[in-house]
Amino acid sequence: MIEKYAEIIGEDELDSIVKIAEKLKGVSVLHVNSTPSGGGVAEILSKLVPLMRELGIETDWKVIRGDKDFFTVTKSFHNSLQNGFGELPKGAFEIYNKWQEINGNELDLDYDIIFIHDPQPAGLIKFRKKGKWIWRCHIDISNPYEPVWNFLKQYVQQYDSIIISSPVFGRDDLIKPQYIVPPSIDPLSIKNRPIPEITVRRILYKFDVDPDRPIITQVSRFDRAKDPLGVIKTYKLVKRHTDVQLVYVGSPASDDPEGEIVYNETVQAAGSDKDIKLLMLPPNSDLEINAFQRGATIVMQKSIKEGFGLTVSEALWKEKPVIGGNTGGIPLQVINNVTGYLVTTPEEAAHYTLYLLRNTNIRERLGKNGKEHVRKNFLITRELRDYLMVASLTGS
Ligand code: UDP
Repeated sequence: MIEKYAEIIGEDELDSIVKIAEKLKGVSVLHVNSTPSGGGVAEILSKLVPLMRELGIETDWKVIRGDKDFFTVTKSFHNSLQNGFGELPKGAFEIYNKWQEINGNELDLDYDIIFIHDPQPAGLIKFRKKGKWIWRCHIDISNPYEPVWNFLKQYVQQYDSIIISSPVFGRDDLIKPQYIVPPSIDPLSIKNRPIPEITVRRILYKFDVDPDRPIITQVSRFDRAKDPLGVIKTYKLVKRHTDVQLVYVGSPASDDPEGEIVYNETVQAAGSDKDIKLLMLPPNSDLEINAFQRGATIVMQKSIKEGFGLTVSEALWKEKPVIGGNTGGIPLQVINNVTGYLVTTPEEAAHYTLYLLRNTNIRERLGKNGKEHVRKNFLITRELRDYLMVASLTGS
């Protein structure tokens, strides 16, 4: 299976990955996160873990458990760390610590290298018996809400090294090595591999979307950081000038209890417009996501806060120009007038959407550039190599 990537990245790149992996033979590796599906972290781990195993590295993936109170707390951490302000549920720190205890006592954490993904399981470091521990932070921690960051930092400081997604997230109050590893997409997955045009059309028809009329698509959990209301506003501004449909595709994630509330807010904002499709798909609807991204005329990722935004690379890989929020990891992927346009307001987003809808040749140019940009920088093989490097450096 791993040999198949050679067609996309070349033999030399693949050889270098195999060589680094050889150094880790006999080393046991564990990844821990907070949901088996939904969201970017689960997406990456579901591809990365089998590849690490295929390279002969003994690798496991474990998911912590928690109740609604715990995930409400961790979602409030997530929001306040990214927004720089926030309101925490009563007893938030105690609830967080209680579930670290429960998981720490239940999970076997006896591995040589442990990657802990994001804040939700960060406190498990208290249960370290052996091995090197790496905190892999996928979110924007450049301007955190201090009470939450100070709480979390007591754990983060105990790790041997830290991985962040973009240089702009680097923190000078952490003394541990901080490695920059942007996330990535798997070009061979059902979500990203080429599919026949007829399949794209069939899936669009199935959801009552007309493949022959222009389509703006945003694929995102229903999360305020993804600005679904801003997407609706953008669409409405564009619709005043030209014919267009909006498809917003989301799906639930077990560690995001706000999804339903935000979905309802979005339904309200959409009103009765038949050209707006708000779709709540079951988790792992990968073929449908592939089709909606390929069927789009323009892909939007109008986030207000974003760790990276895998959906941007997924769209660029399918040669779609992306209009992306100028935040977090999106500017690594959206380069103005090269792969898409960076925006802040719905007005700016509408301006570039109209511009792109009216200029097929520019859409095509940006789309082609986008695919090359992703090939060079944001494929799973590059992230795999980076993880192996960080594991070797931290372990030695
Ligand atoms: N995703 C999905 N179905 C949906 C919405 C999102 O499969 O209905 C996927 C999306 O294709 C991407 C991941 O979930 O692979 C979201 O990752 P991203 O980094 O964009 O955002 P996050 O949810 O981690 O904040």
